Amino acid sequence: MKILRLILGDQLNLEHSWFNEVDDSTTYLMAELRQETDYVKHHIQKVVAFFISMRNFAKELEKKGHKVIYLKIGDPENPQDLEKLITMYMEHSGAEKFEYQLPDEYRLDSQLQSICPILGVETESYDTEHFYTTRHELKDFFKGKQQLIMESFYRMMRKKHDILMVNGQPKGSKWNFDQSNRKKWKGTPRIPQEKMFGVDVSAVAQQIRSSGVETFGNLDEANFNWPVSRKDCLLMVHYFCEHLLKYFGDYQDAMHTDEKFLFHSRLSFAMNSKMLSPKEVVNQVLEYYDHHSHEIHISQIEGFIRQIIGWREYMRGIYWKEMPSYRDHNKLGNYNKLPDFYWTGHTKMNCLKQAIQQSLDTAYAHHIQRLMVTGNFALLTQTHPDEVDQWYLGIYIDAVEWVEITNTRGMSQFADGGLVATKPYVSSANYINKMSNYCTDCHYSPKQKTGEQGCPFNALYWNFLDEKKEYFVNNPRMSMMLNLLEKKDKPELRDLKQRARDIIQNPGKY
Ligand code: FAD
Ligand code: SF4
Repeated sequence: MKILRLILGDQLNLEHSWFNEVDDSTTYLMAELRQETDYVKHHIQKVVAFFISMRNFAKELEKKGHKVIYLKIGDPENPQDLEKLITMYMEHSGAEKFEYQLPDEYRLDSQLQSICPILGVETESYDTEHFYTTRHELKDFFKGKQQLIMESFYRMMRKKHDILMVNGQPKGSKWNFDQSNRKKWKGTPRIPQEKMFGVDVSAVAQQIRSSGVETFGNLDEANFNWPVSRKDCLLMVHYFCEHLLKYFGDYQDAMHTDEKFLFHSRLSFAMNSKMLSPKEVVNQVLEYYDHHSHEIHISQIEGFIRQIIGWREYMRGIYWKEMPSYRDHNKLGNYNKLPDFYWTGHTKMNCLKQAIQQSLDTAYAHHIQRLMVTGNFALLTQTHPDEVDQWYLGIYIDAVEWVEITNTRGMSQFADGGLVATKPYVSSANYINKMSNYCTDCHYSPKQKTGEQGCPFNALYWNFLDEKKEYFVNNPRMSMMLNLLEKKDKPELRDLKQRARDIIQNPGKY
């Protein structure tokens, strides 16, 4: 029977069982579609990374002997739309069956469910064979439970997959070493030079531009430094184990003006495109640790493994449990516009300037920059979660909705009312000053609350607590903050709120 199999841009899993055998009657279909470049405005590096990785993947399939139809963005016969693409190539190929891997985005899942019935042939969907968990495993795990606590899901994952366990107990006698993951980086230990790939992407960048795709952000066309082939992805994991793992946990939350990546792995794009599986990453890290346990502390390993088998799988499970209503949540009732400087980096607030400029230059910021700098400011200025989502979904190389929206709308903006985060991630200048050197060269002073030098985060923080307190009265994790707010001197609070209002109304001034 002639079969047409669709492969989406984030389904680049060369190890998938589909490819175990070469079969002449099966054709694989891949396309660079305007539907995908245009649903949000993306960073140029994100579009380049996906297209080059897709092209490399198609070449690998062809090398193995598989039949592949590949449409580039500028090809005249490219219909630029998924439904037209599938119907057109079902007809061309004379296929009697259509097969696809389950998409990870709700948008594409719904679209495929509406396309299949109109094809008039047998259709079948397959697992992507990428994640540890199935789409609905988290939903089943939390059935009948009041709260969806990540830690309990994570412990189940550790036990179920026998990861960092000894005789049924957690290795190192503790499940979680989060407390030791909070060091400030002050110039030592030395951070190795980032892993370079130096790929020339000028041809694909030119094709993207001449096809009229609108993007933003910066790109060094002669020297693209993201892994875009399976071989480079494997090199990246190896590099991480050899050079960065030893200090990963300690400096996970640190930020520094001279170091964009610190000890972070930069593996999110490799995994989210599925060129690498989380199991491969975890197994490699565990194997490396087995041979180097005398020089690497368990806290570094646990800190890393938790992100992958914990947070990453947890966010995916929440996404499938809560969509499609999740994308409409705005439980704190925030309606302001995202400040324009998110698109330019032009602000006197050094932490935001650094985190945004870095994001525009590299399509990357690490977790704490996303959560406690850009996310924190957006929440404190009570920005509409739709605006915040659009920005995060566009700017980061790893931004795919299932992991972007749960982190942004949930963890960072508390728009889901506390499904993902047990408290809102807001802070005054104190936290940023404690974890970075950003405040040293800032126009503002982290110690001052009002006046010309007063750090905007300070006034915004107290204003936020005051304006949103009714949402948090029953949240035990917020009681200390609300008690402090209660004790605040009234004239001081009035001045803070006045300044906060000015910042919210005129963010460009700051
Ligand atoms: P490392 O710090 O080296 O961590 C290793 C891996 O753990 C990552 O590659 C990632 O796969 C996983 N991981 C770590 N934290 C998380 C998390 N909170 N949720 C899911 N997986 C995690 N991650 C994305 O992959 N795509 C996104 O679109 C995305 N948007 C985010 C938006 C906001 C507002 C926030 C606060 C976080 C977001 N994250 C997102 C999570 C996290 O910031 C990135 O996964 C991480 O910064 C990627 O860099 P890295 O590979 O160097 O990660
Ligand atoms: Fe950011 Fe305030 Fe520190 Fe400046 S002083 S870097 S605005 S936290």
